[in-house]
Amino acid sequence: MSATTFDVLIIGGGAHGASLAFHLSRRGVKVAVLERRHLASGATGRSSGLVRMHYDLEAEARLAWEAFQWFRDWKERVGGACGFTRTGFIQLAPREKAQALQANTQMLQRIGVPTFLITAEDVKRLAPAFYTDDFDYAAYEPESGYADPVLTASSLMEAARSHGAALIQDCQVTALLTRSGRVYGVQSTKGEFHAPQIVNAAGAWAGQICQMAGLNLPLSTWRHEVMYVLRPPALRLPHPTVIDFPNLMYFRPEGQLTLVGLEDGNPQGEDPESGEHVRPGFVERAIDRLCRRIPKMEEAHLHSAHAGYDGLSPDQHPLIGPIGPQGFWLDCGFSGTGFKISPAVGLCLSEWMLDGAPRTVDITIFHPQRLLEGRRLQGEHPYGDIWL
Ligand SMILES: Cc1cc2nc3c(=O)[nH]c(=O)nc-3n(C[C@H](O)[C@H](O)[C@H](O)COP(=O)(O)OP(=O)(O)OC[C@H]3O[C@@H](n4cnc5c(N)ncnc54)[C@H](O)[C@@H]3O)c2cc1C
Repeated sequence: MSATTFDVLIIGGGAHGASLAFHLSRRGVKVAVLERRHLASGATGRSSGLVRMHYDLEAEARLAWEAFQWFRDWKERVGGACGFTRTGFIQLAPREKAQALQANTQMLQRIGVPTFLITAEDVKRLAPAFYTDDFDYAAYEPESGYADPVLTASSLMEAARSHGAALIQDCQVTALLTRSGRVYGVQSTKGEFHAPQIVNAAGAWAGQICQMAGLNLPLSTWRHEVMYVLRPPALRLPHPTVIDFPNLMYFRPEGQLTLVGLEDGNPQGEDPESGEHVRPGFVERAIDRLCRRIPKMEEAHLHSAHAGYDGLSPDQHPLIGPIGPQGFWLDCGFSGTGFKISPAVGLCLSEWMLDGAPRTVDITIFHPQRLLEGRRLQGEHPYGDIWL
């Protein structure tokens, strides 16, 4: 076997590429991650890092719950650090979504997630500075919070390397090599690499890699902007991590800072090379939303703002599984919510690739074949698209 021949090539060194490399290599598979820049230079390095389990699709909730247990026990399971910080998580829902909130909280409880329904008065007790007159109920996850996406990817990759995986950086894949309907390698800016299995974990660039495989899938891109503010002295104590559905916003603490992102106004279909600055008006809109929930944030100071790109699927759910030439797999389409599930997706996909079927969580529901059949995934009690 030459130095450039592997069992599996993973295109993309984000949280998902690193996670899959970790799970495959600890089972003795010879893996290489090919990354055009450096580890976590895509969405993973821009991610807000929320770690919560509240989803309206059970398979995603199961992945988030499995992944949460990896984040919680990171040192023992992976080694190194993932920066997991427990803050408690509150999912706020508008009154017209209260029934879905209740049903989804019951689904989460059924699969073992520590969560329960609380009232607006309870939210006020947990977070006295919050305005609580625009909803009646919320779902609370006392164990959830956020993690550090770059540390997560680098400790997964470090552990993978200790099991023999290779990380090849500054290595852009430029073509897929196929023969008789099978993949056998890639061409890259660092030469040819060969393997009988190739995984597309290229995030916002995954559509380009699919085209190299002769697949014209409706994979798009999603641009997302976030802002950090320094909380005023009256709000110095950390607050919970929150998805604020009534205000189409999420926020979480980071020391004395608060990170804010908006669920609307995230452009779709842009070239992911369009820049990481935020667009005019974003900071004002984000501050206005934050002040609606926490009026005292009027006295906060802007700290910084940035943007990033993720891969977007038509139904805003992941695309995981084999498609196109034999040996070609997708591990992409995470649609702005993929960081928190990355430790679990890598585990389940490694089972699928090595054992013929995922065992820990059945991720076959995310098979990309649904795109060809025009099917959309949605939960039993859907909140609707996450990103508007
Ligand atoms: C601003 C922002 C905030 C977010 N907040 C959250 C959050 O709070 N919680 C959450 O769960 N998710 C969040 N997400 C989504 C989450 O970050 C992503 O779903 C996740 O990081 C995707 O990881 P990935 O490994 O699939 O992709 P990426 O991290 O984008 O990695 C793909 C890699 O592929 C490389 N690549 C591309 N083309 C090639 C090529 N031809 N050859 C070699 N390498 C190539 C890229 O350089 C990149 O490093 C957020 C995303 C953004 C942008």
